[in-house]
Amino acid sequence: MPDTKTIAVLGAGTMGNGIAHVCARSGFNVLLFDVDQKALYRGLDTIRINIAREVAKEKLTQQQADDARSRITLTTNLKDLAPAALAIEAATERFEIKAEIFRDLDRILPTEAILATNTSSISITRIAGVTKRPEQVIGMHFFNPVPVMKLVEVIRGLQTSQATFDTVHSLSQQLGKSPVEVNDAAGFVSNRVLMPLINEAIYSVMEGVATAEAVDQVFVLGMSHPMGPLTLADFIGLDVCADIMRVLADGLGNPKYNPCPLLVRMVDAGWLGRKSGRGFYTYPPK
Ligand code: NAD
Repeated sequence: MPDTKTIAVLGAGTMGNGIAHVCARSGFNVLLFDVDQKALYRGLDTIRINIAREVAKEKLTQQQADDARSRITLTTNLKDLAPAALAIEAATERFEIKAEIFRDLDRILPTEAILATNTSSISITRIAGVTKRPEQVIGMHFFNPVPVMKLVEVIRGLQTSQATFDTVHSLSQQLGKSPVEVNDAAGFVSNRVLMPLINEAIYSVMEGVATAEAVDQVFVLGMSHPMGPLTLADFIGLDVCADIMRVLADGLGNPKYNPCPLLVRMVDAGWLGRKSGRGFYTYPPK
């Protein structure tokens, strides 16, 4: 029988360490797996820093923080994930990588276990199709930074069972999140609506309608967005934005989703936003 208090998280990067953090904070034992040992150490460092910030803001006591930290176990051995009742995959956004992970999880985890993916754009139905338990595969799309953002898009693949959906919906609430039900389609809801907005904002800059600063001000001052679309694009990564637009164009079969030529040129130049120090704005080196 799987241990319902144990969650496996695969990938210790930006999203994986955030997911491990919220699971441990909510009382679950976390088995955090990555193929890269250094990524595990970096992930754990990030969790320590973010938990300390929560203590400083009095959202957690020192004891709760220590308990949360002690519930996280790092591993590079997939077999260690065997007791988990739920796996949440947050590895690199490539179908081949995810397909291999899901085949392995299907082999290693108990037959009752649920396999979730945090993919931003790959079809849940397609990932489910590589396993022998497609009715127990589902999307759990968290948002960055995971410890802060309330939303989880809970995405049903074509084969996902009602029991799997109900379990994951209720678990998302136990993690302190607000789950929203979405069906499997390119970009789900979040990226299908957000990315064309960002793309159109980039067209406005390319066509000289307004500067990047002015476009952002329109959204901050006129629509009460906490940040403008170009600041957000720099935060997400311009390469990620371009990739998601291509997924929308392919998946929805409409050229209106092609990435804006200025976006493509900026990615070609290595101007990827915050992470490269330059995007629509410039950032001091970390
Ligand atoms: P990231 O590059 O920060 O981390 C990915 C991690 O996956 C790395 O540590 C890498 O070593 C690891 N990895 C690669 N192959 C692996 C394997 N076979 N098994 C286990 N780990 C492996 O990426 P990220 O931004 O955390 O994105 C992870 C997933 O979350 C992607 O599917 C992405 O689309 C999705 N996502 C990202 C965001 C975001 O804002 N960054 C938001 C929502 C969803």
